[in-house]
Amino acid sequence: MNILVTGGAGYVGSHAVKHLVGKGHNVWVFDNLVYGHRGAADPKRFVQGDLHEKDKLAKLFREHKIEAVMHFAAYALVGESVTDPAKYYQNNIVGTLALLDTMRECGVGKIVFSSTCATYGVPQIVPIPEDHPQAPINPYGYTKLVIERALEDYAHAYKLGFAALRYFNASGAAADGSIGEDHTPESHLIPLVLQVALGQREHITIFGTDYPTPDGTCIRDYIHVDDLATAHLKALEKLGPGVAIKCNLGTGVGQSVREVITACEEVTGKRIKTVEGPRREGDPPELVCNPAGAKRMLDWQAQHTDIKETIASAWKWHSAHPNGFGD
Ligand code: UDP
Repeated sequence: MNILVTGGAGYVGSHAVKHLVGKGHNVWVFDNLVYGHRGAADPKRFVQGDLHEKDKLAKLFREHKIEAVMHFAAYALVGESVTDPAKYYQNNIVGTLALLDTMRECGVGKIVFSSTCATYGVPQIVPIPEDHPQAPINPYGYTKLVIERALEDYAHAYKLGFAALRYFNASGAAADGSIGEDHTPESHLIPLVLQVALGQREHITIFGTDYPTPDGTCIRDYIHVDDLATAHLKALEKLGPGVAIKCNLGTGVGQSVREVITACEEVTGKRIKTVEGPRREGDPPELVCNPAGAKRMLDWQAQHTDIKETIASAWKWHSAHPNGFGD
């Protein structure tokens, strides 16, 4: 297929591009490089642009006879969404609506959308199934939920085919070590712990040790980025006019912050200095995916279920690229 990948120079997007190209699809990467990296995209297939640039998008759709969009482009820092919500509403909602308008104008009828478990807010049931109430507790999660609702309405009215994939915690890196996670500023647990192992940071602060969990620290479901990529390909295969898929992507197994740190010590062979700090605002105690929906809807399940294997792939990337993509 001819596929446009927005945010294809970002973390999850670049891994999806690698898988799509590997399957023989014709792929175009569209990224404004605000958080993406030029080094993460093949220059032959890269177009720099912003979701608000409808003319640029329309030209790409028409010139390359685009049949489907994978839409990763978004701002995704929870804390920043609280302090600067306008940035999130403008990009994640207004930008995505511009993309959807342009798709309609150009007759592009399929989209795979990066959603998030942050749309659930504080879960009432863990592991979380897809029909769990969605009540986000931060602007980031709310912007993703608004687009999920728009997609449902567009599927109903305009016969758009969509899959909204609600990721749990994306982690790890490509097996060949060619691409990986590089955020500035970095805020995610695994890369931060690995920066301690590399001597780039003195310690990792554990955000809260008084949660109602066995060791007092937050539990998350760390899903390998290559597994996320394969789920996107499966979702794309299922799309047709009016098809609406809403699906969680996780392993079904949770790890506490302390368990992640211990696993990082075992993988890297380095002692990680920890400091116990207060809770981070907006962090639910436990977010773990019920993976049954993905098995049923996409015939997909995570292949990387050992957290140490996932961390080892991230370590391979971070230790070979201590400055990320270097831009
Ligand atoms: N976390 C932590 N210290 C850090 C960064 C994260 O203790 O320096 C915790 C955070 O509170 C959460 C988990 O690690 O419970 C995963 O956080 P991350 O930011 O990686 O992903 P999120 O769950 O926010 O999407």
